[in-house]
Amino acid sequence: MRLARTHVLVSVNDEALLAGVRDVQRALRAALAERGLSEEVQVIETGDPGIAGHGVILVVHPDGVAYGRVAVSDVKEIVEEHLVKGRPVRRLRIARRSATMTALGERSRIVLRNCGVIDPENLDEAIAAGAYEGIAHVIETGMSPANVVALVKQSGLRGRGGAGFPTGMKWGFTAPGEVKYIVCNADEGEPGTFKDRLILEGDPHRLLEGIMLAGYAVGATKGYVYIRGEYALSIRRMQKAIDDARAAGLLGDSILGASFSFDVEVKKGAGAYVCGEETALIESIEGKRGYPRLKPPYPGAVGLWARPTVVNNVETLANVPPIVVRGAEWFRSFGTASCPGTKVYTILGHVEAPGLVEVEMGTPLRRIIWECGGGVRGGKRFKAALIGGAAGGFVDESQLDVAMDFDGLKEYAGVLGSGAILVVDEDTSIVELLHGILRFFRHESCGQCAPCRTGTAALVQLSEAIRTGNASPGDVDRLVDIARTMQATSLCPLGQSLILPVKSAVDRFRSEFQAASA
Ligand code: SF4
Repeated sequence: MRLARTHVLVSVNDEALLAGVRDVQRALRAALAERGLSEEVQVIETGDPGIAGHGVILVVHPDGVAYGRVAVSDVKEIVEEHLVKGRPVRRLRIARRSATMTALGERSRIVLRNCGVIDPENLDEAIAAGAYEGIAHVIETGMSPANVVALVKQSGLRGRGGAGFPTGMKWGFTAPGEVKYIVCNADEGEPGTFKDRLILEGDPHRLLEGIMLAGYAVGATKGYVYIRGEYALSIRRMQKAIDDARAAGLLGDSILGASFSFDVEVKKGAGAYVCGEETALIESIEGKRGYPRLKPPYPGAVGLWARPTVVNNVETLANVPPIVVRGAEWFRSFGTASCPGTKVYTILGHVEAPGLVEVEMGTPLRRIIWECGGGVRGGKRFKAALIGGAAGGFVDESQLDVAMDFDGLKEYAGVLGSGAILVVDEDTSIVELLHGILRFFRHESCGQCAPCRTGTAALVQLSEAIRTGNASPGDVDRLVDIARTMQATSLCPLGQSLILPVKSAVDRFRSEFQAASA
């Protein structure tokens, strides 16, 4: 068998499946066979490369050429022109995005390093790309659980789920007990956010190893991955990764011959936004309605089935294996002193190249939007960006140079949140946008506590009056007052965090609200 000179990476995700990726794959293999290139050019199925809205995507390596919206009818041209004659097909190239990834993103790839590159359903490929090196290192070198916790503390890794709490410290707070659990929060329900899905689909073994390392560090023997039910491909790939790892002796009893035993189970969420809150998620795993619990006690003391439980986000756990293998200093060489490492963002809205990007913490928002997202679509003027998801804050043009990390955004009373960056152009009404957000929260409020149940309804009523010109004097300020009351009195972050979008929209675009309500 000859060594392949070229690899064609075919991204298989939900979008690509809907766009007919299986037909394109078949046509590609047939066209290569017809030209006698089946051995020289290998077709490899990968996860999502982080480029949204481009249907079927093929990436030709080592040329670094990405093709988007590829149809069966384009396949012969790609084979003849590019793979035979060496001339990339310009009309199908996703030129801007691949250029920006090289300029800004490639060095910064920690979490997404293997996404869109390896076959996520192939354990051997994952191992060749470094999977399970971390757990092997810990076991072979006899690193104690306390040393793993200390290493993660030294790395400065902070939770990527939104709050930015130091991960090592959270692990260190886990109460003693014979039975403990790790829960990976993959209930990604924030509108416009799909970073966790890409990790689950593109590199499930890395996440699995992160869960195992967390289990080793805190002395847990069981982990759960709670994935939102709509993520069918993520669920299937995660389950396959668990099954393959178990069959290879990487999960289960006496992992790699050591005394460490650990297993992982996938739990499907039913699509309630509030189940992204850690205690609601725990209730849901226990088979109950997803109502958030009063805190304290925190899950680290009283969690799943009243046992000490560590709940970490997907992106947080995916950072752990490379930290264990390469060390805290290496991790600290990325990002800023108080927020080391990288952050994965979903860039969407009115940008030329929506998708996913991983950049160093502290990268200015302007660079992320223009160098990674390709700038505002159609040459229009930037108006605002909603950062951190629906419960995030708006920034305007004067704040484009904000350093994107947990501390930089605090200056503008903002949050990194889910890592979503929604860009809107000059033609967008902030009043309408906020109204949509408020309707979403009214729908998703679980109704358990009165401030949020009645507060979200009142906010929608007021914003409806404002957008239809039926507001009374003072209604714009009343929006902020209600959101502030909810912040002080609601039981969970859903009700507490609405102050962010409401106040930032009103503060930065007050004239628009006044004009609409007049
Ligand atoms: Fe439910 Fe809202 Fe109260 Fe949270 S704040 S418990 S979502 S009603």
